Amino acid sequence: MPVVVVVGAQWGDEGKGKVVDLYAERADMVVRYGGGANAGHTLVIGGQKIVTHLVPSGVLHPRARLVLGDGMVVDPITLLEEIAACRERGLLPDGQLLVSARAHVILPYHRWLEAVREDQKGAIGTTRRGIGPAYESKAARRGVRVCDLGRRGRLRELVEQNLDEISRLIGRAVPAGEVDRLIADAAAAGEALAPMIGDAGREVDRAIAAGQNVLFEGAQGTLLDIDHGTYPFVTSSSTIAGGACTGVGVGPTRIDRVIGISKAYCTRVGGGPFPTEMQGEEAEAWRAAGQEFGATTGRPRRCGWLDAAALRLAVRVNGLDGIALTKLDVARGRGPLKVCVGYRLDGALLDEPPGDAEELARAEPEYMELEGWQGESREARRIDDLPPAARTYISALERLVGVPMWLVSVGAERAETILLRDPFAG
Ligand code: GDP
Repeated sequence: MPVVVVVGAQWGDEGKGKVVDLYAERADMVVRYGGGANAGHTLVIGGQKIVTHLVPSGVLHPRARLVLGDGMVVDPITLLEEIAACRERGLLPDGQLLVSARAHVILPYHRWLEAVREDQKGAIGTTRRGIGPAYESKAARRGVRVCDLGRRGRLRELVEQNLDEISRLIGRAVPAGEVDRLIADAAAAGEALAPMIGDAGREVDRAIAAGQNVLFEGAQGTLLDIDHGTYPFVTSSSTIAGGACTGVGVGPTRIDRVIGISKAYCTRVGGGPFPTEMQGEEAEAWRAAGQEFGATTGRPRRCGWLDAAALRLAVRVNGLDGIALTKLDVARGRGPLKVCVGYRLDGALLDEPPGDAEELARAEPEYMELEGWQGESREARRIDDLPPAARTYISALERLVGVPMWLVSVGAERAETILLRDPFAG
């Protein structure tokens, strides 16, 4: 009956899709609490690849109710396309998905605005899906919410109010015909989604009160959190475990367990400081081995050494009980492995990343070096099956960050996993 939050402990793309899918096997409910279609989760089952953006990664488990929480920003047309794609594969039966009436809606003008900004110098490299501008509308208290889609008059009023400002920002007036079409499309999408729209917070609370296994699925990663990430190179929402409370309407005392997902190395997409970043051929080799190209954007990811100092921050701000380590197989045969244990900045040794991006960019990582391994690890199903150097790497990491390993992933497939602790155990 525990309530479990799974969060990315790095810069996103940690393999949350696979871990949530695995954990979802025992979940009665899988809930997303923030972000939008900028999350791209890749699930590989029996060689078949499924990428979800909005629909929670529990989609392969028809028994689990799937919820999109209040804190999300939802593009209703993208959501309908994703639902249709899932249904083509025989997934997502009627009644499985619940969309919060309070979630905010991404409309085409959010994407227009983002595109204009991203084309400017110094852009932060967003997914251009309108996520940031939709959160801006929300904070400015002029956002359109899912519950507004079914109220034509209100929808028009809000859209016109927003376009008033946005057309100035994008440097073009939006013709009346285009506005009408935008409103008609949004209303039609709202109609199609109507049977799935409801009071997500209440439903989640009921599930928790009934003693069900509830799994909260974080999007992006801790270091992209709007408050605790490498600001301003961050996303627009609260990606940390606390976001599950604010993004759904569940009090912190209801959460029993928090697991952070980390790769056995680091990656980052887009701009922003990345102290352990590898360069040149080394980076290329890791990128190729780990297939580090974005699930949503196809962009090559920047690769770097595992950063235990950054993970310490993730342990602290999320209150992590443990780590799920993914892509350990990628480290095989890569020679000695470096792990960042802290940073040197202006003569001081820091055990966590500094809060200022400029300082983090100047910080010099301090590394420890660990022996690499050649032996295959994909077949491992118990820790003892791993090559000794891989076991040492794991225990060094546990020591450095101060929490135990709950899971080790040794391949993209569901079965390629060493499960050490069950998050839903009583
Ligand atoms: P997410 O956004 O955190 O779900 O991460 P992504 O799904 O974008 O990226 C993770 C990628 O790594 C996907 O292509 C997964 O199939 C793959 N993956 C997950 N775990 C492992 C693993 O242990 N080993 C390998 N080789 N690939 C993995």
